Amino acid sequence: MAEGKKVIKKQILPLLPLRGLTVFPYMILHFDVGRTKSIKALEEAMINNQLIFLVSQKDVQIDDPQEEDVYRVGTISRVKQLLKLPGDTIRVLVEGLSRAEITEITQTEPFIMSEVMEKISLEPVYDEVEMEAIIRKVHAVFEEYFQLSNKISPDTMVSLMAIEDPGQLADVIAANIILKQESKQEILNEFDPKARLEQLIVILSKEIEILEVEKSISARVKKQIDKNQREYYLREQLKAIQSELGDKDGITAEVEEYKEKIAKAALPEEVEKKALKEVDRLLKMPAGSAEGSVVRNYLDWILDLPWDKTTEERFDLKQAEEILDADHYGLEKVKERILEYLAIRQLAKDIKGPILCLAGPPGVGKTSIAKSIAKALNRNYVRMSLGGVRDEAEIRGHRRTYVGSMPGRIINALKQAGSKNALILLDEIDKMSSDFRGDPAAAMLEVLDAEQNYAFRDHYLEVPFDLSQILFLTTANNLDTIPRPLLDRMEVLHIPGYTEEEKVNIATKYLLPKQMEKHGLSKNNLKLDEKVIRDIINYYTREAGVRNLEREIANICRKAARILITNNQKSVTINSRNLEKYLGIKKYRYDMANEKDEVGIATGLAWTPVGGDTLFIEVNVMEGSGKVELTGHLGDVMKESARAAISYIRSKAEDLGIDKDFHKKLDIHIHVPEGATPKDGPSAGITMATALVSALSEVPVRKNVAMTGEITLRGRVLAIGGLKEKALAAYRAGIYTIIVPMDNKKDLDEIPENIRKKVKFVLAEHMDTVLKTALNDKQKRKNLYDIKDKGNDQIQQSSLEHVSTGIKSNLPTIEQ
Ligand code: ADP
Repeated sequence: MAEGKKVIKKQILPLLPLRGLTVFPYMILHFDVGRTKSIKALEEAMINNQLIFLVSQKDVQIDDPQEEDVYRVGTISRVKQLLKLPGDTIRVLVEGLSRAEITEITQTEPFIMSEVMEKISLEPVYDEVEMEAIIRKVHAVFEEYFQLSNKISPDTMVSLMAIEDPGQLADVIAANIILKQESKQEILNEFDPKARLEQLIVILSKEIEILEVEKSISARVKKQIDKNQREYYLREQLKAIQSELGDKDGITAEVEEYKEKIAKAALPEEVEKKALKEVDRLLKMPAGSAEGSVVRNYLDWILDLPWDKTTEERFDLKQAEEILDADHYGLEKVKERILEYLAIRQLAKDIKGPILCLAGPPGVGKTSIAKSIAKALNRNYVRMSLGGVRDEAEIRGHRRTYVGSMPGRIINALKQAGSKNALILLDEIDKMSSDFRGDPAAAMLEVLDAEQNYAFRDHYLEVPFDLSQILFLTTANNLDTIPRPLLDRMEVLHIPGYTEEEKVNIATKYLLPKQMEKHGLSKNNLKLDEKVIRDIINYYTREAGVRNLEREIANICRKAARILITNNQKSVTINSRNLEKYLGIKKYRYDMANEKDEVGIATGLAWTPVGGDTLFIEVNVMEGSGKVELTGHLGDVMKESARAAISYIRSKAEDLGIDKDFHKKLDIHIHVPEGATPKDGPSAGITMATALVSALSEVPVRKNVAMTGEITLRGRVLAIGGLKEKALAAYRAGIYTIIVPMDNKKDLDEIPENIRKKVKFVLAEHMDTVLKTALNDKQKRKNLYDIKDKGNDQIQQSSLEHVSTGIKSNLPTIEQ
């Protein structure tokens, strides 16, 4: 290296040791100063020409560095700015001016002063070509470094490359690159620019090597990270896709869940085996298959059934009775039967429940007493309507091979009940019918048969379910349409229609309070007395039960509530006079007894599903050739009774005072008014005969006698059904003498006490009694005829003592 001419310049300057920092000439930077000694050095610099000697500490840890703790070479710098920061720290902005070497430390306290020596070359002494080559090399290496490190901004890069002075170039580059302190110091130590540049090339090349390795490491790391991330992402996606498709993992979890549920469900052994088999099948099925959902559905059904669940039954008779009485008025037979059953259950725990069939017209409380029975026995209640069921599969389910197959209604009801000792009401069992799809009654037979139903098999379920603890109750309107074998399984309890008296009681004690509560009305809000209830019963309803009565009461409650709110009234009073305002004009009127005794008109009694009714039979005779005409929509049986009646009269014509050739000379027209309503049944026989005799003999029929009974050709009177309803109808129509067949004597007990008190029941075994009672000969003495009392025909006293027959002679006269 060529040594040029140099000037050595010495000066004494305050020294500031730097920690972890190397300041080069041409460099402008700021740093914070906190050490007292350093601050004092700064102060000193400010007093003098703002020059300070900055030199790096060898070890950053040393707080109070001595001469040997700092490098020899540093930078003479100018303090350009001081800024006091909070907490005795000073931020100082300096500009490096020239490198210098310590020659002597002149003072160490209160701050360090040192004598420093600069070496200033007066002229460049390098071979220009060589220098150019070195500079180019520096440029190339630096550019490479720039590319790799990306720590230097392109602007800095450009301005650095523009520096021409070799020494400055080396210093500025060294200042701008990230280097270990030692490396920086090495460059700083070099006073000779060329040597400095060469030093820089070495250092940069080493740095580049390091950077390259670093880069390849980070590329590798990044690749690894990328790969991990990618895998994670794909895996997440796969999971989503799998769960969308119902993946195997999902199925495994599901299968586990089913197994757990099965274990908990306490299934009978056979059922558990079957269920586990199905679970295994599920596992083998392809994800998302349709069959899978069939299996799931099946398993859900199995798990939903109350295989082992029961409610604790109530055996307390008294409590049960209280519950039954609280809900329903009357219905004594039903209540008693239930209490008997309860009593027997206590003695013989395993006794099978009776299958009661509550038979009666609509609205008599069959359904609601069933519910109340369930409550009294503390069994869950489920109602299952059988009306319109025609297919065996509805009871017993479809086999699982059918698409969309389901268990039948029994299993459905069990699921709903949630306990295996529930009370299931089979409503309207008489409305079940059969067709080509099989007979539901046959399935019902199995359900109701105590010998078989401990293992009832539903087609869908395939495994047996024990129905033996279920209490079945059935209801029917009409026993005739129930298949005989089914009827034989059941114990029929008849619930006949209610009398007006009973209805009044039901309405005042049960229906009215119930509806008022439902409508939010209190006793003070709505006032209506018994008379109003009677009017509703008589003029707005015509039914054996109380369903419409309840509906009309609800109607009144609704209207009353509205009036209370709109008129801001405290209470509403309803009486017979304003009733029409609430319920509209009267819907019904009852046929009342005839105004007077008439020839050829007799009052019969009919039974209809909505209760009993009066039935007028009119007969006209006119000259003719013996034709008989029957009008009024009469059924076959009724027509036959008419003919039987005529035959009987012909055979007895003389005894009855009738021309024995009447059948040749006269035409007879029998008519039953209200032709729109079909009428049938044999029970109008004696009524027709009476009307005929009256017409032919011109003896009027008493207007206040009603009758019912079948007639034979010999004039015998045969038993009929529905006596209670018929008696109620007669009573309602104001007729207080009723002729009934002797064979129905036993049924008189059913008739409510208050009616028995007022009505006279004449028990007839033969037509003679009927005619004696019904015909009023007083008005037609000239047609007096003689009826021979056969002895066996008697006008019977009804079971009530106070009713006298009123027969005074062999001619019928009746006390009125
Ligand atoms: P059904 O099943 O016989 O057709 P419901 O059970 O539907 O009759 O009865 C109709 C309504 O009449 C129900 O609100 C019921 O509570 C009421 N009801 C019927 N009979 C009585 C009764 N004896 N006591 C109290 N409420 C009754």
